[in-house]
Amino acid sequence: MGNYILALDEGTTSARAILFDRNGQPLDMVQREFPQIYPQPGWVEQDPMEIWASQYGVMMELIAKKGLSPDDIHAIGITNQRETVIVWERATGRPICNAIVWQCRRTAPLCEQLKEEGLTDYIRETTGLLIDAYFSATKLSWILDHTPGARERAKRGELCFGTVDSWLLWKLTGGAVHATDLSNASRTMLFDIKKCDWDDTLLARFDIPREMLPAVYPSGHLYGYHRMNGIDIPIAGMAGDQQAALFGQRCVHKGESKNTYGTGCFLLMNTGSTPVFSENGLLTTVAASLDGQAPQYALEGSVFVGGAVIQWLRDGLGIIRDAEDSEYFAAKAKDTGGAYLVPAFTGLGAPHWDMYARGTLVGMTRATGRNQIVRAALESIAFQTNDILTLMAKESGIPLSTLNVDGGASANDLLMQMQADYSAVTVRRPAVRESTALGAAFLAGITTGFWDADALFSHAGGNSYFTFTPHMAEEERRRALAGWKRALRAVRAWSEAEADDDEA
Ligand code: ADP
Repeated sequence: MGNYILALDEGTTSARAILFDRNGQPLDMVQREFPQIYPQPGWVEQDPMEIWASQYGVMMELIAKKGLSPDDIHAIGITNQRETVIVWERATGRPICNAIVWQCRRTAPLCEQLKEEGLTDYIRETTGLLIDAYFSATKLSWILDHTPGARERAKRGELCFGTVDSWLLWKLTGGAVHATDLSNASRTMLFDIKKCDWDDTLLARFDIPREMLPAVYPSGHLYGYHRMNGIDIPIAGMAGDQQAALFGQRCVHKGESKNTYGTGCFLLMNTGSTPVFSENGLLTTVAASLDGQAPQYALEGSVFVGGAVIQWLRDGLGIIRDAEDSEYFAAKAKDTGGAYLVPAFTGLGAPHWDMYARGTLVGMTRATGRNQIVRAALESIAFQTNDILTLMAKESGIPLSTLNVDGGASANDLLMQMQADYSAVTVRRPAVRESTALGAAFLAGITTGFWDADALFSHAGGNSYFTFTPHMAEEERRRALAGWKRALRAVRAWSEAEADDDEA
């Protein structure tokens, strides 16, 4: 029995390997970036062999760096950038083209066509998703349409489709296992999340043969083994990055939620064994589940401009030097003096959904200076997060409990206190903020008996937290949220006025 769980985290821009000890503490980490390929504006690709080489490289480097041998590794867990599509030859393991990355917009026209065909409701009710080029289905369809002979070969069973987790699993097992997990499958826009099976109607629509699809298992499952120096290390956990983070934050019970404050913000709320289908543009996704457990579901929403608004203060306006400085300047203003910043630089997402919205700063007076603007920027992250949390609570009928946080901007204490105050919720920031990798490690560790799930989740289980409790007066909170709503109305008035001008 090895003393460590190895988490492999293949993100969008870099591969990381992290070792966790029995207390869930990270022992060490190795990270390596890999190249992005931009063949045309809006197109994003990666070389699957680079994805594999970077992941394998950091894994071996970490083991060597710590002077470990393969039997020190109890099990491996995998977490990954979601939705990215890879197609390879079953016989040789050779990719037939580059990976099409989740960010790639090349299939936007096909998505418009699907909407015109009236598939919006069907896709939402079956897959839990909105029709969008992000998800795997249209990307896979594009590869089969544009690679000579691919569809016929796929029908003959000669090709394998996989998201990044499947690809790494295939490589790590020497081509023995072609599988994915429920959380990754739920991001393909081909998967019926209630039946937990690939959906024949959608497969037929895209003419995707079942022969090329991976087998699907719960996230915590013994997928196979990676042989290292003659020793078989179990690969016992796989989950998409956001679902892994939810699990790593120990949000395994209904109503528990997490927010990752990165460039954008990613919010997930566990809704238990019942999927909640949103009327307001939240996504329904399969959360990380364990073998023998009913599938768990989550609602997912994102804020497009989260930490990015702080980058804008730094690089666009030049009024702060480092992201951390935002806390210092914002704290110098006791409030924004009635000013609100809505960073709708690329439109507004849930629950507002206005792709023509643009940013605005309203309510300025002569007293509005750097400190107030920086404070308004931090508040905008908290307000946008609150809008999604409120929607999640409303649509699920589950009142908000604690909000667990991670990501770069969660280091900002003032922002975390704002979140607690505006959402009237306790905000909990774990000492170990590698939630994504920790989630993959938990899955692999629980599945192989390294950890006991009840012990891990019933109490703090070795993790310590910093807690922010709300202490804003209700009246003040109501006034602040009403001001934010007014600022959003100003944004809407602007985009509507623009539409009117265009018509005139
Ligand atoms: P990503 O994974 O999306 O690259 P990270 O989790 O690394 O993001 O977080 C980086 C983001 O957080 C940046 O947008 C940065 O502006 C913001 N950020 C980092 N530190 C702070 C801070 N102390 N206060 C506010 N924002 C911060």
